[in-house]
Amino acid sequence: MVTQTSIIGDGCAAMMLASRSDRLPDHNIRLIKPENAPPPVDHMWGFWAGKGLDEQISLARKKWNNWSIITESGEAVMSSNDHAYHAIHREKWLGHCREKIEKLGIALLEQNEVDIENDVIFDSRPPRMNGKVMLQHFYGVEVETKMPVFDDSKAILMDFRVDQSKGLHFIYLLPFSNTNALIESTIFSFDLASEDFYLASIHDYLERIYSCSDFVTKHQEKGVIPMGRLQPHDPDIPGLGGNAGAIRPGSGYAFVYIHKQIEEAINHCKKTGKLRFKPPHKKIDLWMDDVMLTVLENYPNRGPDIFYRMGKSLSGDQFAKFMSGEITWGLRLKVITSMPKLPFIRGVTKRIFGGRSSGVA
Ligand SMILES: Cc1cc2nc3c(=O)[nH]c(=O)nc-3n(C[C@H](O)[C@H](O)[C@H](O)COP(=O)(O)OP(=O)(O)OC[C@H]3O[C@@H](n4cnc5c(N)ncnc54)[C@H](O)[C@@H]3O)c2cc1C
Repeated sequence: MVTQTSIIGDGCAAMMLASRSDRLPDHNIRLIKPENAPPPVDHMWGFWAGKGLDEQISLARKKWNNWSIITESGEAVMSSNDHAYHAIHREKWLGHCREKIEKLGIALLEQNEVDIENDVIFDSRPPRMNGKVMLQHFYGVEVETKMPVFDDSKAILMDFRVDQSKGLHFIYLLPFSNTNALIESTIFSFDLASEDFYLASIHDYLERIYSCSDFVTKHQEKGVIPMGRLQPHDPDIPGLGGNAGAIRPGSGYAFVYIHKQIEEAINHCKKTGKLRFKPPHKKIDLWMDDVMLTVLENYPNRGPDIFYRMGKSLSGDQFAKFMSGEITWGLRLKVITSMPKLPFIRGVTKRIFGGRSSGVA
């Protein structure tokens, strides 16, 4: 028997699932464009190369075998041949999925045009925050400079040499060439900053670090990713993607985790006939993220040192695996021992006895 299955959403997870639905012959999948959804905007997804990601890798705009974390006291450079950092345009990936979906004859319908009441439904609309949750908020510009200023062999994941008055603040810089880069001002805090603040930070950074004030802006992107464990968009509808726990709470990365979640669900469905989507993270990693977030919320000024130490103590391969959820006990131990002891002892204590204000379940 074929199960009529409706997926609410047309974003990353919904499109990825639908584009692979030829592997779910017992489910007749259709996508439902949600009402009141904001207009889609292109942005970059960063991810580390790993097993099963050949499609994503082949569509990436650029890859970097080197990446770094920079603080006032130094730079931690990591390198990897097998797990290079890649950046892919959201529009490129969704366009690729759309082509496959069209070939598969999958319908994309407006929510008010269709009755899905009798379908099996999965909801990929964004999860909701429960109370006050620390946010990762950012504003980025893609610039073209007059003079060659960027080193395009290395992505900068975090450069903390910026104003720290609004929270844990860093620059994320993806150099596509020596004159072309995406530069994002990113803050971990409870409150958003004004667009002027992020933009001034980027301009000031370019001037101070690259002696560059002559550039044109080609594209802008912004985002807010809640950090912490979140609640489903609608408690009565099972989720998919970020709405089924795919966003890694400690980092906001989700692109590769959504891939893993969907692969696991397809494999499970083949064995049991049942389609369902689980958070693609291990409990211990969620707990470690909770502790990390507790520390960052309570001691944001320790953030630069924490990330720098992690970058210094892990190899590129280890860092990429940690960020992508391919984590062994040995790697967890290495991350734990690289951390400054006192704030983490306090963080663990607060996790056990309370004191963290955000929506961690
Ligand atoms: C700007 C930005 C940059 C990111 N960068 C990275 C990155 O570099 N690497 C990484 O791994 N992850 C990144 N993420 C996190 C994550 O990969 C994305 O959030 C990913 O798109 C989640 O996929 P999804 O299918 O769960 O949700 P989405 O792709 O966001 O799809 C959600 C669906 O719900 C709809 N919707 C949205 N809001 C509403 C609403 N209010 N009401 C009704 N419907 C709504 C949308 O139209 C869409 O159909 C980024 C997120 C953002 C926002």
